[in-house]
Amino acid sequence: MESLKESVQYIKGIGPKRYALLNKLGIYTIEDALYFFPRDYEIWGNIESVSSLKHGSESSTVVEFRGPPKIIRKKRLTIVKWDAFDDTGEIKCVWYNQPYRRNIYSSNKKYFVRGKIDKRYGETQIVMPTVEEYHPQKHDVPKIIPIYPLTKGLTQRDMQKMVYGALQKINNQLYDFLPATIRKEYGLAEKNFALYNIHFPKNETALEEARRRLVFEEFFFINMGLKLIKMETQTEEEGIKFSWTHDEIDDFIDSLPFKLTDAQFRVLDEIYADIKSGKNMNRLIQGDVGSGKTILAAIALYCAVQSGYQGAFMVPTEILAKQHFETFVQLFAKRDVTIKCITGSLSQSDKDALKVDLRSGDIDIIIGTHALLQEDIEFAKLGLVVTDEQHRFGVRQRATMLSKGKKPHMLVMSATPIPRTLSLILYGDLDISIIDELPPGRKAIKTYHVPPSIRNRVYAFVRKQVGEGRQAYVVCPLVEESEKIDSVAAVELFDKLKNGALKGLNVDLLHGRMKGQEKERVMEKFSKGETQVLVSTTVIEVGVDVPNATVMVIENAERFGLAQLHQLRGRVGRGEHQSYCILIANATSKEIRERMSIMVHSDNGFVVAEKDLELRGPGDIFGIRQHGLPEFKIANLARDMDILKLAQQAVEKVVNTRGNPEFDEVMEYIYKEFNAKTLDIVMN
Ligand code: ADP
Ligand code: MG
Repeated sequence: MESLKESVQYIKGIGPKRYALLNKLGIYTIEDALYFFPRDYEIWGNIESVSSLKHGSESSTVVEFRGPPKIIRKKRLTIVKWDAFDDTGEIKCVWYNQPYRRNIYSSNKKYFVRGKIDKRYGETQIVMPTVEEYHPQKHDVPKIIPIYPLTKGLTQRDMQKMVYGALQKINNQLYDFLPATIRKEYGLAEKNFALYNIHFPKNETALEEARRRLVFEEFFFINMGLKLIKMETQTEEEGIKFSWTHDEIDDFIDSLPFKLTDAQFRVLDEIYADIKSGKNMNRLIQGDVGSGKTILAAIALYCAVQSGYQGAFMVPTEILAKQHFETFVQLFAKRDVTIKCITGSLSQSDKDALKVDLRSGDIDIIIGTHALLQEDIEFAKLGLVVTDEQHRFGVRQRATMLSKGKKPHMLVMSATPIPRTLSLILYGDLDISIIDELPPGRKAIKTYHVPPSIRNRVYAFVRKQVGEGRQAYVVCPLVEESEKIDSVAAVELFDKLKNGALKGLNVDLLHGRMKGQEKERVMEKFSKGETQVLVSTTVIEVGVDVPNATVMVIENAERFGLAQLHQLRGRVGRGEHQSYCILIANATSKEIRERMSIMVHSDNGFVVAEKDLELRGPGDIFGIRQHGLPEFKIANLARDMDILKLAQQAVEKVVNTRGNPEFDEVMEYIYKEFNAKTLDIVMN
């Protein structure tokens, strides 16, 4: 076990230089090396005769050398060229700057030779081939060779040697945390076997078994880790038991300008059950954009206040904080509830006053951005923390917020629709409620995909809508995951449109590098209808509500994930008028056409997310890192759902079986390892 954390420098052949290169690939320890999985495999073997070798292919053949080799020196280059042959023809083996090659092969032996075939000037060459003395037992069977991700300065051969060295270090003695009972029941390979065969598979079956085992292990580890954390938070102490006047809450609900949907009532019942149970609520509400999550947050927070507690509502952007604050002030206008809003741009004296009132309990509900996380924000009696659009907050931020009270309840709201199977992984520590119904009377948004060549017609359409009194958003290309670069792109597009296609209209600009107050001013003008077209980066993505906006134009739509496009689309279609979403995308590939077509044909976020998962894998749906969870090294969520379900089943079995020492051991092991790893990731 010691050797796992040992540096790979202890492997023969790895000096400081190679070590530095390996570091670039994230490899420091023996463990890193073992878990640095091949990205692909090549099948050697399939020995071909010299005459049948094809130009450009990576091929294997068996030859004898006809001596002596030719040495050619050119400037700084030494070329060794050696004629070789089999019964069917001749081939030249060529090596650059490897003069030692001329000494190591003899002309009366057969050699297995593998390399890239190059046919030119009537000769067949094999360039920089790997050469091994030919042994029929070894070379006549197909051999599976790992192909690793590389960095400049490292070759496949270096990687293979390094991994092989790591495997020798552990010498089949690695501890297998998966209990033998579980391995047997689910037909899983043993760990040492799996690690060996994922790198150097004996044959295809062994590779398949190795992969299956490692995927299972990865899912099992994460699911178990989350499960244990959840069990811990639930059982450690009693949570707060809310008790409120039902009449007052019912009256509040009756006074709303609309009737809650069935789905909203159902989720509300789930919330009620949690907060009066005496156990901690840890609940995620997933609901498509516009499904009405905010009002549920308001009701839950009112329950807290009615029970004598304070509530906090944490949101990712200043714009959203302000918008929710205004909504809340209206909702509670006739009730005795003190609501305040805290953001980064609040003046110091206002902030200080607010802190005092929070500490004394004079504030009932506080709405705010990350500013809420500051250490000196303290509560008299924090009973409920709601976070909106949770995918923007890390696990640690959630934990910080919760630590401001004595085991407060937690409600997390997300508009990123995530397929059920996935949410079990990502939110394994939360209970999940789904609002799968939109309020009645919403007109479906018409979505179109158009090529950039007819951009002018798109903007003519925007002008027409504006002429009818409506407003529009134009979202500009996401250049990189960098606010700075995106902001520059937004500025450019804004200038171009204002002086071109949208000349004469009130066009405004919003991007992430603007100061909080500036952003607010821009949003306010748009909200009031003073601005007709808002050019923006994705900062408008989250939660903004302007019912008069009916057009959403998305430039370079192919650069966005489907889930994100869906969220952007949700900014329109919030009022009585017909709304439109226009995706400008150059359909250069089948994948892009397919993705755009999904957007055009589906308005259901869960369907969109499911398709996105199929097409592009989970990484693009949401930054997995942001959840404070490790990225998957081998599991592929789109492909390995079956294994995931089995792993989830196995986890249930282990945690629900009491007193089995084998099971206790794995729980203890994962609890320790998982906490260490999760913390690592959340910290960086
Ligand atoms: P989201 O789930 O995207 O956060 P919101 O909570 O912002 O959605 O709600 C979108 C809009 O729908 C708001 O203007 C809200 O007042 C309204 N709304 C919420 N619930 C209902 C309902 N049951 N009937 C009609 N309108 C509703
Ligand atoms: Mg919302």
